[in-house]
Formats: sequence, structure tokens, C-alpha cells
Amino acid sequence: MTTPDGVDFDLEVLRERYREERERRLRADGIEQYVEVVGAFAPLAHDPWADPNFNREPLADEVDVALIGAGFGGLLTGAYLREHGVESIRLIDKAADVGGTWYWNRYPGIACDIESYVYMPLLEELGYIPSEKYAKGEEIFEHCRRIAAHYDLCRDACLQTEVHEIRWDAEATRWVIFTNRGDAIRARFVCMANGFLQKPKLPGIPGIETFHGHTFHTSRWDCAYTGGDATGNLTNLADKRVGIIGTGATAVQCVPHLGAGSQHLFVFQRTPSSVDVRANRPTDPEWATSLEPGWQRHRIENFQVLTAGGIADEDLVDDAWTSITKKLLAMRLNNTSGLSAEQLAATMELADFAKMEQVRARVDAIVEDPATAEALKPWYRQFCKRPCFHDEYLQTFNRDNVTLVDTHGRGVDRITESGVVVDDIEYELDCLIFATGFEVGTDYSRRAGFALVGRDGLTLTDKWHDGVRTFHGLHIHGFPNCFVLSIAQSGFTVNFPYLLDVQAQHVAWVIASALEHDVVELEASEVAEQAWVDEIVTRGERTTDSAQFCTPGYYNAEGQADARTRQGGFYFGGPTEYAEILETWRSDGTAPGLDVRTQEATR
Ligand code: NDP
Repeated sequence: MTTPDGVDFDLEVLRERYREERERRLRADGIEQYVEVVGAFAPLAHDPWADPNFNREPLADEVDVALIGAGFGGLLTGAYLREHGVESIRLIDKAADVGGTWYWNRYPGIACDIESYVYMPLLEELGYIPSEKYAKGEEIFEHCRRIAAHYDLCRDACLQTEVHEIRWDAEATRWVIFTNRGDAIRARFVCMANGFLQKPKLPGIPGIETFHGHTFHTSRWDCAYTGGDATGNLTNLADKRVGIIGTGATAVQCVPHLGAGSQHLFVFQRTPSSVDVRANRPTDPEWATSLEPGWQRHRIENFQVLTAGGIADEDLVDDAWTSITKKLLAMRLNNTSGLSAEQLAATMELADFAKMEQVRARVDAIVEDPATAEALKPWYRQFCKRPCFHDEYLQTFNRDNVTLVDTHGRGVDRITESGVVVDDIEYELDCLIFATGFEVGTDYSRRAGFALVGRDGLTLTDKWHDGVRTFHGLHIHGFPNCFVLSIAQSGFTVNFPYLLDVQAQHVAWVIASALEHDVVELEASEVAEQAWVDEIVTRGERTTDSAQFCTPGYYNAEGQADARTRQGGFYFGGPTEYAEILETWRSDGTAPGLDVRTQEATR
């Protein structure tokens, strides 16, 4: 078959190859294959940047709003609450600073994988223009601090504070937040902004506990050991044999620096990433000064529409993200007249194959050793895993001091005292780095590190035992005055801060209105919650196929997505549609779906 770009391929052969690659990777233990970072592994999750001697007196005061998590979710909700005039806000975070993801992840090469002009929120409000099209991690972390400073969000914050339990006190109609600092903070409203990909996970490789060399997870990068910083220059590794397990989006960014710094680098691969062109560039000052008021919202909306497969007159971001969807769309439009749903799906499949053939051809064009190039080719559909974009990752495998150790989809066989074993070969290492990602799909309290206990002692873990249940992805019946910011049952987007921004605006509006009208309790009704869950399940059924044919990963519960996990999926209507639903709900003015009790009604 030939695509409109002139790429030749055999559809049946490719389908079979994708199926084989998926089968080879499926494991009976699914998400259970990973090791929780507790007990002997707990040091791998310690905060390398916090002051270990920090101490303060316990708090037993009251605030209007407690924001659990000081990443983009907590910061944006705080910012919009301030814009509504809410003063009594407390950010609570286990980290020693604001920033969330951008506080924890400081590995060399860390950068935004979405264009910074749409990824970094509140640019116009703060009068800031990122220095590059894809900003580096440090600049994004600094922007988080800028948001906190601009909206004075650190004034009453509790940092280096780990929440142990959040419990609803029905009599007082307050949440009580218990922490590792002995606090019992009372709050009228709580907003859970504690992150989606935040708890590091380790691979359950036999012998992992026996390794005697140095080891750490990429989200707790050990600069003292490697030398250098987030920009690279890992001088201490010059005499070290370094191994890295994992080849996802994080590894793609740090491997070039490890390759440049290590005496020898071994990259242990289970599944290759799809790595397309990055083409980063400094911000053009002339372009920056030409921007009209409202430019950022306009650009974000344009990106959202295009990356959700919609149609727009222009492509403002014009990068590899939008090219993927434009290509898919172009083929769809060129071929849709009179097509059945099956024919349409087949056209999309064809467009996807063409895109992935291009990505695989890029590997051949860059990687010199044919066997290495073959091993680096991704054999799955574009959105089975997070697509990556980098202009130095593949090139790193041309270095003499870098070895790709492909495990043919099995993963590493064993870890020993002195190294890593694959196919009976032991690779001796001084340092082993885990680029193995974050927990997804485990119990809420396990991921959060605390229990959320609502009305009548019901925990969120129990409430969600048979699947996530929310209204609008934010409210939960049985958990009054509580909001959960998360991707579960919320709008799909590849640009996570966009979703957080939409949710933060909504939550801030609801809380500010509730405070203004002396609302004592607001809670999703059982009926509204059920209706939202039904909507998610119905729309999610359309995505069932992709969960079934994709290679395993955290997107599809390691290939074991079932009705329960799908219920915790996105609201598949596109992110702008989700935003519109919330906007329409606000303009209704009667809070449909919420049971609301005011001070007056209580008297
Ligand atoms: P991922 O979960 O994407 O990758 C984990 C890697 O570890 C995979 O390559 C996985 O292989 C591998 N792995 C797991 N177990 C084993 C094993 N037993 N043997 C060998 N390899 C193993 O984690 P990342 O940290 O890379 O990325 C997580 C997410 O963070 C991304 O998807 C993205 O959403 C986000 N991110 C965003 C960035 C941004 O700029 N905004 C930058 C970096 C990350 P396999 O694929 O076979 O499971």
C-alpha cells in the first residue's frame, strides 16, 4: 500500500507485527509487576533538595480553602481564588517549594515536551514570555515560583508537610487535615491537587534489592553523585559505568547527557519510544512584542482543538504534535465521503501506519548500526504511548561509549550485586538509574500517601473500589466541600496544564460563590454522579479497541484495561467540550447536580 506521502507498506504485515509486539509484552501481573517505593526502597523517594533539619510548631487553625499539592493544580486554583478575592488559602505540599512535577524532576535535559507558550500557564497575566519554544525544566520551575509570588500563595503555605489523613467532621462541617508535623488544620473546602504522575515506581525485577552500586530514580536525580545539573555536564560520571532502565519520555531527555558524561552508558530497553523531530529554538523577540492581548488563550485553544483531532483555520503552534493530528485528519478528510464507521477507522489506521513508518524511517536515517536501529523502532500506533520529540536521543546511540541493550520486550532478566543481566550477559555497573515512571492505577490512598475520609467514615479508596465515580471529574458524592483535580473522568488532553487550568477556574468559581452565599455544604448528588459515570462509560467504549491493540504501558493498565479501569478514563469528548460543559454549568446559576445547604437553611 502507498500513503499520500508515498510511503509503501503492507498493511497486513504491519498489523501482524503490532500484534506480535503487543503479545510479547503482555504479562499476567499487569500493574502488579512494579515495586512500591516503601520499606527498603523508601530512600529512593526521599527529597534530595529539602532541608532535613526543617521544623515548625504544629498548627490547629482554620482556613477557608486548603489546597493539597503546590504544583500547577494547586497554584492555578490558588491564583483564581485570589482573583475572586479569597484570602484564606493554604497550600500544603511535602516538597520544600512549590512546583510539583517541576520541583521533583530535575534530571539533566528536562524540558517541556509541549510548546512552552501553550504549556506554561498565566503567561499574559504575569507578563512573561518563555525563552525558548520548548522551555527547560528550570525555567518552568521558576515560573511556578513566579505564579506563587504574584498571587502571594506562599504567605500561609505549609511546605515540607506530608498529609497523613484528611477527614470530614460532619458536625463542624469542616475537613480536618492531619500531617506528619502534628497539624490538625481545619478547612471549609479542600481541593486535592496532588498530581497524577507523582509517585515514583520501580520495576519488580528479580534481585533489584541486591544491587550494591549507586542507584536512584530519575525524579530524585542525585546531582551530588553525577555532578552537573539539569542542563547536563555530568562530570563525576567520567570514570563510571552507568546503566539506565527505561526508555520512556524521561529517558529520551536524559540519555543524551548520560551518554556525553559517562565512561560507558548501557540503556536497557523493553519498548522503544517513538521519537520525532523537536526543532527547539529561542523565542523571537520580534514575535514576542507583536503578540496581541488574549494571544495565549487563543493559542492554547487552537492547540487543544488540533491535538484533539478537530478542525481549525490555522495551526499556530505548528510542531510535531500538531503535525501528527493534521496528518491523520488530512487523510480522514480526503477519504471520508460516504465511508462507513469501519471504513473511517481503517483510514485512520492507515494514516497512523504512515506516521509511524515515517518515525521508523527517521531511526534508520540517524542510527548508524543497523541492528541498533532496528531495535530502536517502535512497532505500535502513535498514541499507544506518549509520543516523544528529540534531536539528540537517537544520535546518542552512535557514540562508542553507549550500548543499547534491547530486551526484546521482556524487560531486564535480573539485577545482581554488581549489575544487570540480560540474555545471560551481566553488565557490571557503578550506577543504575531507574527511568521507570510513576504509579498509575493503584489505590488512591497508596498513590496519594494519605486516606481521604468522607461522610460516615467512607474512604475514597473504598468509594472507588469498583471504579472511579465523580460528577464532572471534580465532585464526589459522600465527600462534601471537596474537589479532586485529576485526569479521571475529565477532558482528554496531551497538554495537562490546560486541563488543570480549566478545572482550577471552575473550582475557584464554585468555592468563591459558596463563600459569598454562606454555603455550609455542597456535594454531588447521587443521581448527577451516576449520570456522569454513565456518560464516561458510554463514550469510553469507543476507545476500548485501542486499549486492546496497544502495547502495554500505563496508558492501558499494562494491557489489562477492563471495565473498571476504563471507568477511570478521560471524558472522551475533547478538552474544549469538557471546558464548555463546566462553563455552561456555571452560567446556569442553579448549581445543577449539587446538593447545597446554606447557613440560612441550617438555622
Ligand atoms: P514511563 O512510564 O513512560 O516509562 C517507563 C519506562 O520504564 C518504559 O520504557 C518501560 O518500558 C520501562 N520499564 C518498566 N519496567 C521495566 C523492566 N522491567 N525492564 C526494562 N524496562 C522497564 O515513564 P517516564 O518517566 O519516562 O514518563 C512518564 C510520563 O511523564 C510521560 O509519559 C509523560 O506523560 C511525562 N513526561 C512529560 C515530560 C514533559 O516534558 N512534559 C517529560 C518527561 C515525562 P515499557 O514501555 O515496555 O513499559
